[in-house]
Amino acid sequence: MTEIKFDYFINGEKEKWEVIIGLEVHAQVLSKSKLFSSSPTKFGAEPNTQVSLVDSAFPGMLPVINQFCVEQSIKTGLGLNAKINLNSVFDRKNYFYADLPQGYQISQYKNPIVGEGEVVLDMPYGTKKVGIERLHLEQDAGKSIHDMDPDNSLVDLNRSGIALMEIVSKPDLRSPEEVNSYIKKLRSIMRYIGTCDGNMQEGSLRADVNVSVRKVGDKKFGTRCEIKNVNSIKFMQMAIEHEARRQVELLESGKKIDQETRLFDTKKNVTRSMRSKEDAHDYRYFPDPDLLPLHLDINLIDKLKKELPELPDQKKERFIKEHNLSSYEANILVSEKEISEYYEEVVKKCDKKLATNWIIVELFAVLNKKNLSISQSPVSAKNLSALIKMISSGKISGKIAKGVFEKMQIDDKDPIQIVEKEGLTQQSDPKELEKIVVKVLSKNKDKVTQYKSGKEKLFGYFVGEVMKLSKGKANPQLINQILKNKLK
Ligand code: ADP
Ligand code: MG
Repeated sequence: MTEIKFDYFINGEKEKWEVIIGLEVHAQVLSKSKLFSSSPTKFGAEPNTQVSLVDSAFPGMLPVINQFCVEQSIKTGLGLNAKINLNSVFDRKNYFYADLPQGYQISQYKNPIVGEGEVVLDMPYGTKKVGIERLHLEQDAGKSIHDMDPDNSLVDLNRSGIALMEIVSKPDLRSPEEVNSYIKKLRSIMRYIGTCDGNMQEGSLRADVNVSVRKVGDKKFGTRCEIKNVNSIKFMQMAIEHEARRQVELLESGKKIDQETRLFDTKKNVTRSMRSKEDAHDYRYFPDPDLLPLHLDINLIDKLKKELPELPDQKKERFIKEHNLSSYEANILVSEKEISEYYEEVVKKCDKKLATNWIIVELFAVLNKKNLSISQSPVSAKNLSALIKMISSGKISGKIAKGVFEKMQIDDKDPIQIVEKEGLTQQSDPKELEKIVVKVLSKNKDKVTQYKSGKEKLFGYFVGEVMKLSKGKANPQLINQILKNKLK
């Protein structure tokens, strides 16, 4: 295999630049109720129907920590190979905004629940480790709606108080592709564990993207800008590309980068300044007096560790070892929990290599074409497995199988019934096949003579004719054997 090298740099007018990226991912905790109240968290409910007095910050209302959300964040931390802090603190992050009735967000600042960890990415140029700085728990704010009423901005507090995990990476990412891979890996880990559904359209996963540039070879990082609240991987990649180019242009024309918060304008494809970067002291962080520090029992962490499912990296290793798959194949099959489950269901009863091929090549082609996810697959794992079993046992040929596969896609039909009903069983009786071969050869005496005098290409023609006569059902290996014998 040719080695693929990392090659993402920005070529300015004068210099070649490296791009440095760090992400603050906000992942909504998969939980039926909010972080400090019992209000439901269902997506898409009528505005302001999932709001308690705590979420709307009525005076005197007290927050009560939701243990399930705490456990969800511990599990996520374990999935990120991170240190779980036995003592953490909830702080108030003070700022004013119409959709933040409390006037502060309850977050964690100096003492987060999860410390340093690591995520491994599989890039075309090898594996790459991305450091995790921390994961902390915080509450979401409400939502301001500006496009429903021509004269007023409206506020929906359904999101207010929903639990978020903020996962902060180290500035270890170096290209939009690595960001793509990082987000997908994070999402995959959380979905395996069941701590976040990773649904970016519904806003369950968003990220603030920090970007800076430095001349190739420089050791020191440049000043970063933070692009707020990007909710699709494609937009993140576009924003990084544009922001990096903007910074390179500024620097090459002798200007400085101001550390600031920017917004990505998805219509104009540019980043725009939103405000100069606030410092932590602007938020007047202080421990929330309504909440006790969080002390975790080491036994709880051990228990949660034991309950963790097999995660993508472990599963990948197992598939490579036990199923003899390539790293490339294993990567695809573990990339989403549902794909790995589908695969494991299929291979319970049939050949693993063949199954891998059928899933990665044939099934994925259908899913892509119809824009379906694996959970919406028109062919169930059980039926695909049955089809593959018929191929490896020689009951049907690979070619016939493709036709059967087409038919299975309507109402998830049983392949065994299709084969039986349409009489597609492979013809593997040597005597029957010999009869057909003889028929074909005697019909084509002139071609047989040509073949014998050296025109060996005609072999394929004979195979084709036998196939035609058998309506595609003849066993190709047997035809080859018999034809070779007869043509000697
Ligand atoms: P803040 O709350 O001020 O945004 P955080 O510590 O929460 O600070 O997040 C900082 C983020 O910025 C991290 O993801 C970190 O990796 C990233 N980062 C820090 N320095 C740089 C830099 N020079 N270039 C790009 N990203 C950076
Ligand atoms: Mg931050």
